[in-house]
Amino acid sequence: MKNIVLYKKLSAELMTRLRQQAQVTCIDDLSADGLARLRDALPTAHGLLGASLRLDAGLLDLAPQLEAVSSVSVGIDNYDLDYLTRRGILLTNTPDVLTETTADTGFALILATARRVTELAAWVRAGQWRKSIGPAQFGSDVHGKTLGIVGMGRIGEALARRGHFGFGMPILYHSHSPKPEVEQRYAAGYRSLEALLEESDFVCLTVPLTAATEGLIGARELARMRPESILINISRGKVVDETALLEALQAGRLRGAGLDVFEREPLPADSPLLRLDNLVATPHIGSATHETREAMARCAVDNLLAALAGRRPANLVNPAALEVAQTTG
Ligand code: NAP
Repeated sequence: MKNIVLYKKLSAELMTRLRQQAQVTCIDDLSADGLARLRDALPTAHGLLGASLRLDAGLLDLAPQLEAVSSVSVGIDNYDLDYLTRRGILLTNTPDVLTETTADTGFALILATARRVTELAAWVRAGQWRKSIGPAQFGSDVHGKTLGIVGMGRIGEALARRGHFGFGMPILYHSHSPKPEVEQRYAAGYRSLEALLEESDFVCLTVPLTAATEGLIGARELARMRPESILINISRGKVVDETALLEALQAGRLRGAGLDVFEREPLPADSPLLRLDNLVATPHIGSATHETREAMARCAVDNLLAALAGRRPANLVNPAALEVAQTTG
């Protein structure tokens, strides 16, 4: 039997499936103790399954028998792809099953920032609602405003659909390459990043974190945005220069920001971002619904069991590793 190390809690049903086919070691949390237990389990591990942990060479060198890593996420920025491929270790992720939920989160942030939902809900709780509200509590419209999407992939397209059909928003987008079908479906217009920033009321980031997208939105880019516009980040924190964003928000050069992801997570409680009324911060909840997290876990289990059984997993990120595995295995 193969050895699987889990560093993510799974439902009883998925645990039963895994245990029918492998020896399973569970690491319940990623505290110092948990990490020590993970290190102890790595020397005999054939498969790993989890998320939210940077698996670098320092850790994976401890796992000489490792055949597959199954990430319970679509983002793969926690993995050194070249290293995994060189060693013939298959990496899989969980795309598609989280697309719609993550786009919902994007829209939740769009609405919360534009209509000041969290700020004003806190104001009501604090007993401030003593008479009819006035312009000091007004927000700005979402419907009919221009939605600029940076990264027109799966989640980007799900946002475009919501914006176009649900809110009557003109859609602009920037991506590696133009997407004629998306343009047709949602009357979307391709723009350079600079033009998108200048023309959009909402700029929503849905790119993966890569060397090319790290710091994609810095002081120069923020300066191109309109003062009444709002930045939404549901991709990865490091895509935005947080210090530059803080300065832009403090100086009133942007109306607001909705962030689900941060340079450092968990976001420290003393982060100056949390002192801004015009910033809505959520704790990396993009895909965090019961239904979607279960679907992601099921997808990750399927991927891992296929890889360990010598079948090609449905969501293989590094197909080149298959060849390496075949020649070395
Ligand atoms: P996807 O389908 O691969 O879409 C990513 C898009 O980004 C692609 O269309 C790609 O363009 C574009 N892109 C990549 N690099 C770019 C660059 N340098 N400049 C411009 N465009 C670039 O991925 P997805 O499933 O939509 O997921 C996107 C990301 O969302 C994930 O990688 C993850 O980091 C993040 N995410 C976050 C959460 C959360 O909890 N907040 C949940 C799910 C996902 P081309 O198609 O032209 O190559």
